[in-house]
Amino acid sequence: MIQSTLSPIVQKYGGSSLSSIEKVQGVAEKVIASRASGRPVVVVVSAMGDTTSQLIERARALTDSPPRRELDMLLSSGERMSTALLAMALEEAGAPAISLTGPQAGIRTDENHSSAEIVSVDPERVLAELAEGRIVIVAGFQGQSPSGEVTTLGRGGSDTTAVAIAGAIGAERCEIYSDVAGVFTADPRLVEAPRRLETIGSGPMSEYALHGARVLHPRCLAHAHEAGVTILACSTFKDGPNTEIRPGADLVFDRTVDGSDRILGVTSRKRRAQVIAPSDRVESVVETIAAVLGDVDGLLRETKGETDSLLVDLEDVPDPEHTVARLREELGEAAEVRAGLASVTAVAPARDAADLEAAAREALRSADVTVNRAFTGAASVTFAIPSDAREDAVRVLHAALVEASSKVGV
Ligand code: ASP
Ligand code: MG
Repeated sequence: MIQSTLSPIVQKYGGSSLSSIEKVQGVAEKVIASRASGRPVVVVVSAMGDTTSQLIERARALTDSPPRRELDMLLSSGERMSTALLAMALEEAGAPAISLTGPQAGIRTDENHSSAEIVSVDPERVLAELAEGRIVIVAGFQGQSPSGEVTTLGRGGSDTTAVAIAGAIGAERCEIYSDVAGVFTADPRLVEAPRRLETIGSGPMSEYALHGARVLHPRCLAHAHEAGVTILACSTFKDGPNTEIRPGADLVFDRTVDGSDRILGVTSRKRRAQVIAPSDRVESVVETIAAVLGDVDGLLRETKGETDSLLVDLEDVPDPEHTVARLREELGEAAEVRAGLASVTAVAPARDAADLEAAAREALRSADVTVNRAFTGAASVTFAIPSDAREDAVRVLHAALVEASSKVGV
């Protein structure tokens, strides 16, 4: 039995880091190298490659509205597959390891299938296995509800599993590995040369994630903040600079690049619906939306005159057409539902909201992107835009707000 007094490390590997057997073997090597430090290691894994999306497609080949309970049974199997394969790869390489499902690892959630929230973690089993000298591999993105059902945490939810476990076992640091080396001012797949952030506080990062920065699951930041866990967002494939997300830290860019520290970044959501309702009836409209969606974390709201506008996030909903149809049916005459939208958001913790909105509006107008209402958050401004304008809108805003400001050193 190996007893370690060193604090444990939690690592999480995303789907693209596990998309083939060779990559699973590569991850096993990385895990073994980390364990050489003498620290106990817990590894949280996502489903291999785009397994989750493929499983959703299979369900949708059968029905437009798969029962959420069955969908969770189906989707949770993706992560289980990764845990068993990684445990086998580790054993094969001579490292003792054991795979655990989310429920076996003590992840307890509410009953909200498809976007369940972790309410507690009972770390007993994980700690017992670590004390036996094993590397513990936990299936991300899933847990068990009070009624004994398997639940899933929403797309990207393995990050939240990892951070919640880190908090529960007293790990100071949670390393999140993916194919991108940290957090950037825009999605490197959309913008040519985004800037990497060196450190970010969990607060601004949480706003960035909520509006679509897919590098971290929005809910993992609240867990990190509460438990004082530092997250390191790094690349599986390249050593080198990464991003540290510290509970309560400021926003700092890569020190090798000078320029503005005022804009955190530009992000987008692919699928939105806008619900427009008279202000005096909006509370019941919000309740109906919450009942249909089950989760209104990403709901944005703006009042203008006598009407309220609500921006609903449908990007990760497994049955978006059906959800829009249900919203229309349940809301009836109470509200108008506009579908076919996307959103683009600029997040700028240190910038005045009106000033940010004006600059963003101007940039979008000059690129002929139609915008109407702006939704302002604590440190951000979001515009609902036609879906087909999304990629251009991200590039235009990044050029105007990030690239231009770093050139003039604002
Ligand atoms: N496999 C799930 C997804 O693709 C969860 C995750 O990767 O975090 O969304
Ligand atoms: Mg992810």
